[in-house]
Amino acid sequence: MTGHWESTGIRQRIDADKLPDTPEYNPISQEHCWIIIVTYRYNPDVAEPILDRDIMLFGPRVGCLFCEKPYSHLLRHRRCPGEPK
Ligand SMILES: [Zn+2]
Repeated sequence: MTGHWESTGIRQRIDADKLPDTPEYNPISQEHCWIIIVTYRYNPDVAEPILDRDIMLFGPRVGCLFCEKPYSHLLRHRRCPGEPK
């Protein structure tokens, strides 16, 4: 996926323990859970890394958390099988 992506430019501290639980697949609604994946290079010598373009390796990529298929307009309108196939 290409395009123009923006951020707020505001530095935020994130406490991973306070994030909501990972959503669970709903076999009744069979909805995809679209997520955006961005991969950064991690340097363990940096105490508080800044996730900016300088250390970005891949992304952003959009895909479904459950079926692991990349987003497409066609897939958007299909039901999610809930697992990779
Ligand atoms: Zn899916």
